[in-house]
Amino acid sequence: MSAGSNRTSGMSWRIGGGFVLPLIVCFILLVAGVGYIMDMPGKSHSGPLAPLSGEEARIRDRLTAHVGMLAGTIGERNLWHYSALAAAAEYIEQTFTGLGYRPKDESFESRGKTVRNIIAEIPGRSTAGEIVLVGAHYDSVRGSPGANDNGSGVAGLLELARLLADRVPRHTLRFVAFVNEEAPFSYSPEMGSLVHALAAKARGEHIGAMLSLETIGFYSDRPGSQQYPSPLKYFYPDRADFIGFVGDLGSRKLVRSALRSFRQHARFPSEGASVPASIRGVGWSDHWSFWQAGYKGIMVTDTAFFRYAHYHTAEDTPDKVDCERTARVVGGLAGVILDLAGDAAGETDLAVTNR
Ligand SMILES: [Zn+2]
Repeated sequence: MSAGSNRTSGMSWRIGGGFVLPLIVCFILLVAGVGYIMDMPGKSHSGPLAPLSGEEARIRDRLTAHVGMLAGTIGERNLWHYSALAAAAEYIEQTFTGLGYRPKDESFESRGKTVRNIIAEIPGRSTAGEIVLVGAHYDSVRGSPGANDNGSGVAGLLELARLLADRVPRHTLRFVAFVNEEAPFSYSPEMGSLVHALAAKARGEHIGAMLSLETIGFYSDRPGSQQYPSPLKYFYPDRADFIGFVGDLGSRKLVRSALRSFRQHARFPSEGASVPASIRGVGWSDHWSFWQAGYKGIMVTDTAFFRYAHYHTAEDTPDKVDCERTARVVGGLAGVILDLAGDAAGETDLAVTNR
């Protein structure tokens, strides 16, 4: 080898190093970062879905009825459709009551009108001070009947309350239907979930886990049907056939344990991500409110506008909600919630039928 060739290679390394080294470092950081985000326990279900179990078929039928009532019979429900908002609250309250709960109101004033969250609870048998909270917002955005956003989430909440009504887990299980999640109340003091989270904090409550059911009813098997905030699209599936578990970096443990549990209890595709709260869409629901109060919260979602063309439109109608697939999701979530709430018989009948 000649000194000349040595010199040449040394030079090209130095010149190239100005660009290549930072690029390599960036690449390694990107891969490590994405690896950290995507490092989730268990394995997502793949392949054909098993036929619905008897319980899942019942869940499907009830979800259909709830979504039909909220988004069909009642329709657009918000402060500008106040009687519909009140009718939705009454429906939720009556459903909780019919299941044997004694629901409570959490009322407050919003633009001169009284609005309310509705709360149903199962006190924990041994550590009642520890709370697992499942929530869904029942208002719809202006101009939309809100079947998927968020009739589907409320329907899921009501079904979970039914499925778990006879359970007495170690921790307290709290179901909350939130008002005023949509604009212009999002992230404001009149956002129902923020009212609840801050009041819980003021009472010194320990909410160990908060799950926000946010738009959980739309699915598609078409390639390319799923979008993502960049750069996640390069690493996650392109079919909108899964349910997502999403949290900020501080809720990483909760995302992982909920997803692990879901994958044990449900035979349905699932993905998880624990990402910086600044990424678009990650904080866009009621779990955000619980972050503000210092609690861990995650969103269970079909990813909403990242896959659903009718998001926040007049076309977000009950026929768009896939209650059959949502029933599988809700069935799996019942197992997740029991695991989080410390149910000794974590292996529920439902979980068995889901296997
Ligand atoms: Zn919305």
